Amino acid sequence: MESRDTAALMREPTPEGRFGRFGGRFLPEALVPACQELEAAFRAAWADPAFHDEYLGILAANGRPTPVSECRRLSERLGVRVLLKREDLTHTGSHKINNVIGQALLTRRMGKTRVVAETGAGQHGVAAATAAAMFGFECVIYMGEVDVERQALNVFRMKLLGAEVVPVGSGSRTLKDAINEAFRDWVSSVETTHYLLGSVTGPHPYPWMIRELQRVIGDEARGQCRAILGGADPDYVVACVGGGSNAAGTFAGFVDTGARLVGVEPAGGAAVGRGIPGVVHGSLSQLLQDEHGQIIEAHSVSAGLDYPGVGPEHAHLADVGRAVYVPAADEEVLAALRLLATTEGIIPALEPAHAVAWVIRAAGTDALPTGSTVLITMSGRGDKDAEHVMGMLDAG
Ligand SMILES: *Cc1c(COP(=O)(O)O)cnc(C)c1O
Repeated sequence: MESRDTAALMREPTPEGRFGRFGGRFLPEALVPACQELEAAFRAAWADPAFHDEYLGILAANGRPTPVSECRRLSERLGVRVLLKREDLTHTGSHKINNVIGQALLTRRMGKTRVVAETGAGQHGVAAATAAAMFGFECVIYMGEVDVERQALNVFRMKLLGAEVVPVGSGSRTLKDAINEAFRDWVSSVETTHYLLGSVTGPHPYPWMIRELQRVIGDEARGQCRAILGGADPDYVVACVGGGSNAAGTFAGFVDTGARLVGVEPAGGAAVGRGIPGVVHGSLSQLLQDEHGQIIEAHSVSAGLDYPGVGPEHAHLADVGRAVYVPAADEEVLAALRLLATTEGIIPALEPAHAVAWVIRAAGTDALPTGSTVLITMSGRGDKDAEHVMGMLDAG
């Protein structure tokens, strides 16, 4: 373990885009200038108060700030005080709106008129198509053929929003193949096109930039928690981790407090917990791979967490011991969804139900002692998963 210098954590990565030993920019030569252009545009925009005003103004028209709600009945049941940061109440129903609005503003600032994006379950594709429609951009979404079949409703949503959906037939025909195709498009269209990436993954500056675009979650929550907790910070801050963007944005608001940071990964896709260092999609991070270095497909009850890698900054936070990453199994996730629904009247998406599942499991143990206060980021609402959950509960 490196020495813990929390003041330096979750700031800018090195000029090479490193967070400790992770991150970087591992790309074909042709894409390096595009990443440099994006980095320069982001750096200038983020230092410009007018950019922040416009960004936060648009987010305000789309449901921000989101509330922090107190879970009285669940808290009583678990013996810990549970607060929820309600990203489920934004337009489109998840934290993804924060990222896509920010990147759409950057696209316009760079003078580009077209965006490409990858999508797995379709949620980032829908978010990207939403932002493209708001700004009048041409929008092409790459999606593995397997996912196109599984997620027909999201494909329809993207088309309704005016996007073109391109099915990808190479490799395993899922998310990682869609990412490869989106990069390929970007190489040949970089003059007019921005690659609107979906999580804190990929080459520098994406992990840094997207964490900054999501830190609005943590910055708001910190003030809201202090108002509720009489000036104190929560003892624990918990978020689910797929690529890691909602967790990174949440943690950024609390990294310099005494709060313990907990990322919850699906048991079948625990890249931080069970991965080994490897390069995927342009950066070095923890990655699920077999003994031959082949990427292992992640599997979980929630399609939004099925990504074999994780953002490099999470790998670093785990390395230095500032955050811990724990798994949640599918059955406990389903049970958590039902408990939150019946005690609080909130049906969560399956992704944040992972975070709730860990809190339920850990409450009253040394990992989360009785009497603690815990903030959970409710990254999205459950409507999108209702049919899937119905099928699983019928089968069980
Ligand atoms: C996409 C998504 C996630 C996973 O993405 P992260 O980058 O890990 O935040 C989690 N929750 C919801 C509701 C999502 O839509």
